[in-house]
Amino acid sequence: MKVLKFGGTSIGTPSRMQNLVDIVESQHTTKTIVVLSAISGVTNNLQNIADLLLADRKQEAIKLIDELQIKHLDYAKSLFSNKSSVEKEIKLRFQTLKCIANQDFCSNQVGSILAFGELLSTILFHRYLQIVGKKTTLLYAPDFMNINANQQPNIQEISENLIYLLNQHTKSEIIVTQGFICKNHLNEIDNLQRGGSDYTASLIGAAINAEEIQIWTDIDGFHNNDPRYVHNTKPIKFLSFDEAAELAYFGAKILHPQSIHPAKKYNIPVRLLDTLAPELEGTQIFSKKKNQSRIVAIAGKDGITAIRIHSSRMLMAYGFLRKVFEVFEKYRTPIDMITTSEVAVSVTIDSTRYLTAIIDELQKYGQVQIDENQSIVCVVGDFSGDANGQATVVSDALKHLPVRMISYGGSEHNISMLLPQEHKVEALRSLHSRFF
Ligand code: ADP
Ligand code: ASP
Ligand code: MG
Repeated sequence: MKVLKFGGTSIGTPSRMQNLVDIVESQHTTKTIVVLSAISGVTNNLQNIADLLLADRKQEAIKLIDELQIKHLDYAKSLFSNKSSVEKEIKLRFQTLKCIANQDFCSNQVGSILAFGELLSTILFHRYLQIVGKKTTLLYAPDFMNINANQQPNIQEISENLIYLLNQHTKSEIIVTQGFICKNHLNEIDNLQRGGSDYTASLIGAAINAEEIQIWTDIDGFHNNDPRYVHNTKPIKFLSFDEAAELAYFGAKILHPQSIHPAKKYNIPVRLLDTLAPELEGTQIFSKKKNQSRIVAIAGKDGITAIRIHSSRMLMAYGFLRKVFEVFEKYRTPIDMITTSEVAVSVTIDSTRYLTAIIDELQKYGQVQIDENQSIVCVVGDFSGDANGQATVVSDALKHLPVRMISYGGSEHNISMLLPQEHKVEALRSLHSRFF
């Protein structure tokens, strides 16, 4: 069995959705699980609707819902050139969406609004597969995809749920399901965070011990730098799980930050492929030894907050760092980078949800300074022993920029730098011209 995930742009138009049938057909496998995102732009539209509802601007939200309905009905019209019953199904979904919008709206309903994008795209694709004569089943992802109170999925549980459902549809050759959406510990509709369909695909791949997970998108593989900001980037043929995980975590938008972990844990190869050029090789990610003696890729992540705790009590003291880390643990806020000196420690975080409470507690241990709007730029490659002086090249490439923190030596395949967000693009470009 293979798992194929198609992102928003891969179904951005009805003709693109039609083309997916050939891609699915060309897989030499008995059964395919197709994970779909929402049509591109739709999750953003839904987020706007939810924001308006939270701000008590119901009329504006309803207007956006109407526009979204027209968009989906137009899509359906050209997908099924004749009139089909799908129109009714779509209208029914929008009635439900309006019902939610018309009730008193609170923040724990945002998840159920955001889910509509994937619910609609999967109805469209599933019905299209039926019309072209495929044996297909549509599975409702929250029936098998759960997260616990810490927002963590449990692969074992997902596996049991999913295998139970698959056993009820043994004759189906193409199983269609929604990416991104899930059920949380309160039984509410929730999600795996923006871009989460990649994560869904990887979790499903791990849960059913798939032959392969394919992530189909709008680019010919994982590039050696961010193509949105840097010219002449190139696709990488092979990546190890660790390299891909590190790059995704540090901002390579092509993959959701957590999406490689399930695949790595269950050793399921991942391929990144281009829906617009399906004949190209793309990128293969598997458990090979990491790339040797070279820089593999560069990535950058915005929205980072740096926190410095300055305390003379730290001087020659032990136990200080533990107390600092306990604060972050208490507020379930992961730390990305750390540097220390004799009298200060700096850390970075990318979730500011509990920032005020964290600052309050840290002030017990010293003077706290906050720098918001920072970026982490990360170079992934082989730095073991740093035989080729790669670290020197990195620092030379950034010498004209106000680098605030450097993390080197935490692993043998990563150097990360923190700098103000407005310098990220220049950092990516300067590093690119040195290394590639
Ligand atoms: P999808 O909607 O298919 O999930 P995304 O927009 O999430 O697609 O991811 C694909 C996009 O990621 C590409 O179009 C590209 O602009 C961006 N991207 C950022 N970094 C990289 C990278 N290192 N390699 C390839 N694409 C990248
Ligand atoms: N539709 C969701 C988003 O836009 C999930 C995804 O596309 O992966 O974030
Ligand atoms: Mg994506």
